[in-house]
Amino acid sequence: MGKRFNSGARTGVVIVGAGPAGLVLGNLLLDHGIDCVILERRERKAVEGRARAGFLAAHSVRVLTQHGLAEGLLTRGRSHRTCLFRSEQGEFTLDYGQLGRGEVHTVYPQQELVRDLLAEYLRRGGEIRFDAEVEEISEGRVRVRDGADVTGRYVAGCDGHRGVGRAALAALGTRTARRDHGVSWLAVLVAAPPSLAAVGYALHARGFAGHMARTDTVTRYYLQCPRGTDPADWSEDRIWTELATRLRTAEFGPLKDGPVLETAVVDLRSDVLDRPGTGRLWLAGDAAGLISPSAAKGANLAVLQAERLAEAFARVLNHDDDSGLARYAADCLPRVWRAHEFSHWMSTLLHGPSAEDTDEAEARYGRALQYARLDSLRTSRTHQDFFAENYTGI
Ligand SMILES: Cc1cc2nc3c(=O)[nH]c(=O)nc-3n(C[C@H](O)[C@H](O)[C@H](O)COP(=O)(O)OP(=O)(O)OC[C@H]3O[C@@H](n4cnc5c(N)ncnc54)[C@H](O)[C@@H]3O)c2cc1C
Repeated sequence: MGKRFNSGARTGVVIVGAGPAGLVLGNLLLDHGIDCVILERRERKAVEGRARAGFLAAHSVRVLTQHGLAEGLLTRGRSHRTCLFRSEQGEFTLDYGQLGRGEVHTVYPQQELVRDLLAEYLRRGGEIRFDAEVEEISEGRVRVRDGADVTGRYVAGCDGHRGVGRAALAALGTRTARRDHGVSWLAVLVAAPPSLAAVGYALHARGFAGHMARTDTVTRYYLQCPRGTDPADWSEDRIWTELATRLRTAEFGPLKDGPVLETAVVDLRSDVLDRPGTGRLWLAGDAAGLISPSAAKGANLAVLQAERLAEAFARVLNHDDDSGLARYAADCLPRVWRAHEFSHWMSTLLHGPSAEDTDEAEARYGRALQYARLDSLRTSRTHQDFFAENYTGI
């Protein structure tokens, strides 16, 4: 344990948001002996029940293990090393655990990770206020909806891509690089065991479909859908029929079905802030950049950034050395951009013709490129190594 930071009534770091970024940051700051408080707008039950990510990269597992935050995922998570692609040309499987750097994923539902991180944060003596929506951040002062003011030497905006942290930083002149991938996914969580031993990616003229294990009894599916889709228009029957068509069950065997637990529409958008902080306000996770879910990188980038930001805060608060904060962007951005580059590549592989392909000839060209990419991945060992290294890497 490092020296406990104490500056009178002020907290060392006020953290806005109790997602993976805020909770990893909070735990690591406590490790460094730095006082912090987390302000979270939702109730505890809602925070602990929000099902999103599931695939943790080896780097995230290493960071969480090093800091004593991995007990749950190491005991209940499952190692995952294969993915398969289906299309009108058949099916092939990549054992990515044997390709590239030989790294694998650990499948562990995000809500379970959040539950573990929160329990550990409280066990370490951390302070958190639920139902505390932050309305404004200015000069280290955070105003909560109920009228309370909380002041910190620093504020960490870990409040997602629609949060106030990002808005406050934009007012300080940060620029955003942005891409709208022009497609949406119906994200479906079902109470059924995984149907495939691998992550499944299906390319189909009706749109992409995806299959991702979560636990022995819960599976996530995705269906590409038009922008503006209302999840209420998708009955259980319609979901299973569409999944069966796009995952080509007539050719490859049936899916294990079960009740649909949750549906939501995710618009595939990505953005990156050129400067994830300045002065007393610093951002991590989706607040610092949103990445489309096509390569399952968001929670992993949140862990990376929280780790780097915790180091930087520890340096400045415990040793009066702000070089870590000055380096924070340069430390993270090259890896963030590699994740975005790969995620964008995955998006073009999975979705085929883009929004810019406006006429039939352009759509045909886009579809042909998609199949050329798939064929290259199926046949080229060099391409497979590139895929594996980027798929599992952060
Ligand atoms: C369907 C889906 C599947 C995904 N699958 C994967 C995957 O397999 N692997 C992967 O790595 N990533 C995946 N992601 C992305 C991943 O879930 C996110 O990148 C991750 O949650 C980001 O963590 P975060 O802590 O930055 O933000 P969040 O998890 O969004 O947490 C932000 C927190 O801040 C709180 N908050 C917001 N505003 C305020 C406010 N004003 N005041 C106080 N609190 C506030 C919110 O309530 C929330 O609890 C997926 C995302 C989706 C939508």
